[in-house]
Amino acid sequence: MRKMNFFAGPSTLPVEVLEQLRDNMVDYHGKGLSMIEASHRGGMFEEMYDECLADFRRLLSIPDDYDVYFLGGGATLQFTMIPMNFLLEGKSADYVRTGSWANKAADDAAKLGNVNIAFDGKESNFTTLPDPASVKPSEGACYYYLCSNETIGGIEWQDFPDTGSVPLIADMSSDILSRPVDVSKFAMIYGGVQKNLGPAGATFIIMRHDMLDRRNPGLTAYMDYAKHAKDKGLYNTPPVFSIWAVGLVLKWILANGGAEGMLAHAIEKSGYIYDVIDSSDFFRSPVDKRCRSRMNVVFRLPSEELEAKFVKEAEKEGMLGLKGHRSVGGLRASLYNALPMEDAASLAQFMKEFERRNG
Ligand SMILES: *Cc1c(COP(=O)(O)O)cnc(C)c1O
Repeated sequence: MRKMNFFAGPSTLPVEVLEQLRDNMVDYHGKGLSMIEASHRGGMFEEMYDECLADFRRLLSIPDDYDVYFLGGGATLQFTMIPMNFLLEGKSADYVRTGSWANKAADDAAKLGNVNIAFDGKESNFTTLPDPASVKPSEGACYYYLCSNETIGGIEWQDFPDTGSVPLIADMSSDILSRPVDVSKFAMIYGGVQKNLGPAGATFIIMRHDMLDRRNPGLTAYMDYAKHAKDKGLYNTPPVFSIWAVGLVLKWILANGGAEGMLAHAIEKSGYIYDVIDSSDFFRSPVDKRCRSRMNVVFRLPSEELEAKFVKEAEKEGMLGLKGHRSVGGLRASLYNALPMEDAASLAQFMKEFERRNG
């Protein structure tokens, strides 16, 4: 029997997708070989890949003047590639420090150029985000960088700032396709696929084509977005298995109401957990209500002993991955797209029972 999977990443995938992978692993739809044995040049891989990119465009209504492709290296490689390409000599870029992931990106960028910290969540212990309406990028900034959902801290931008002529760049690793997004507000959206879109390996890149005109000269081949844009990410060997699975997950999302459908599910699933937290003095949410994440619900119990007990007993009930990230402690339930509604309801029920026994 499958467990209830609340891991933060890699994380749960639709069981239908796992079954399709299994059924076609050895012989891909009667072609006589596996997708992961085929050349990435032409043939069955490119046919599958083109469909995957088209589905991704369709799901997010990505405008035609954006390039869409997948790279390797994880979201983390982008912390370097973005400033290498777009942080120009003698200029600066705006970064927010909103938690683990935005902070890492800001730290990497600061090694490569001038970084202006537009917001620092340190005083609040990274439990809140800027009010989007108040965001004003610095004059002449190369770009404004944010992370749409801080996977570890459990805070999520509910709306995005209007940065005018300053390109807006967002890491959407952990909430991509959990809601509709107006892509045209962004110059670039990227993320690792291993939270909401598939198994680890691929990183999606969505970039307005004219960003390529702004990049630094003299980049090495892999670091140069223009090389990847020109060949839809096939400059070198792509993470074939991951992309194959992402293609299947995108079809699953299309069949389940698209981005709107995922949002409705996310509201309902996270609602189960936040309702329990809000109606109790036993559970506590450390984050600003205004920016509560629908993907990663972070909560605390009255003591660390009770938190450890909670994790242990939940595991016995078949609920995995509820321990908070080692850097912040506490508890975290990740409720990505593929997590069944019943699993969120079961967790809420378990929380109530745990409080009754220990509160
Ligand atoms: C997981 C995660 C990353 C890191 O992704 P890797 O693929 O491991 O490099 C970056 N940003 C966010 C928001 C994440 O959730």
